[in-house]
Amino acid sequence: MPPRTGPLRLSLVIPCYNEEASIERLYDAVSRTIAAVGDDVEPEIVFVDDGSDDGTLRVLRHLAAGHPEVRYTSLSRNFGKEAAMLAGLERATGDAVVIMDADLQHPPELLRTMIELHRQGFDQVIARRDRRGDKLVRTLASRAFYRLVNAWVDVELVDGAGDFRLLSRRAVEALLSLPEYNRFSKGLYAWIGFNTATFTYANEARQAGKSRWTIGKLFNYALDGMLSFNNRPLRGAVYMGLLLTTVAVGYMIWVIGMAVVHGIDAPGYVTIIASVIGLGGIQMTTLGVIGEYVGRIYYETKRRPHYLIRETEVPLTRDVGVAG
Ligand code: UDP
Ligand code: MG
Repeated sequence: MPPRTGPLRLSLVIPCYNEEASIERLYDAVSRTIAAVGDDVEPEIVFVDDGSDDGTLRVLRHLAAGHPEVRYTSLSRNFGKEAAMLAGLERATGDAVVIMDADLQHPPELLRTMIELHRQGFDQVIARRDRRGDKLVRTLASRAFYRLVNAWVDVELVDGAGDFRLLSRRAVEALLSLPEYNRFSKGLYAWIGFNTATFTYANEARQAGKSRWTIGKLFNYALDGMLSFNNRPLRGAVYMGLLLTTVAVGYMIWVIGMAVVHGIDAPGYVTIIASVIGLGGIQMTTLGVIGEYVGRIYYETKRRPHYLIRETEVPLTRDVGVAG
């Protein structure tokens, strides 16, 4: 894409789940940064209330009433961050869209760098956080996650590169053209490609409220990542089956050979128990893998909307995934 000239219409998409304590501070910080970047940026801030049960919606209504550039959408219940981001992307109208968290962990000052890089022609500008100040378990869990996922998926995921990023209009269109119900954003961003710039910033601790991530959730997320991008786990099951069959046939030949040639009977029950338990375990794992894919197909074929809207003042830019 050629370098841009003229004012940049910039949309910020901010998913909020129980963030009443952060929103106004975030708004102030964002406005200050954008004002400092200059008049050649026309901002639009799209907040998505992901079915919060605190005063988030109230704060958003209030903010939108006082500021023309603020828009909001409130989902009918908590659909999760993926759905909330999608709702925001579908409503953002800017030439470039930045997705950012509401909890001030994504420093608004970085918008300046993102805009600069976008102006140089990058379609995706990723702000990648380092892991300073993270709990050790969390860091180790994340590292294990990336190892595991990158070994299994086709697209390369980068540690610390999350949802805080700028997307050009065509990158947003590309993301929105992917209709899947199970949305594993990190993978989708990598899948769409385009010119991508990455820069690293120092991690910030959460300012208020608490994180939704537990080790259990991270584990499920890792599994989602591995299963969302290819059928390699199924392939793995096939290879495991083939390997075991080969081993079993080889063993049988060996036992029969020993009996025929040397007259030695094979020792019995240990072998049997070991193979029954081993095979049982492998069969269950394999069935589980297949089950995961079948489950995914089940969800995809239902073609349910990704979210429902309770209240909005944002006109739709398209008519997907919406009702109410
Ligand atoms: N979020 C959301 N829906 C959810 C959970 C989180 O919209 O079900 C939002 C949340 O308000 C925040 C962002 O997603 O703006 C990141 O959430 P969080 O800070 O809990 O995650 P972490 O920073 O620990 O990755
Ligand atoms: Mg956070």
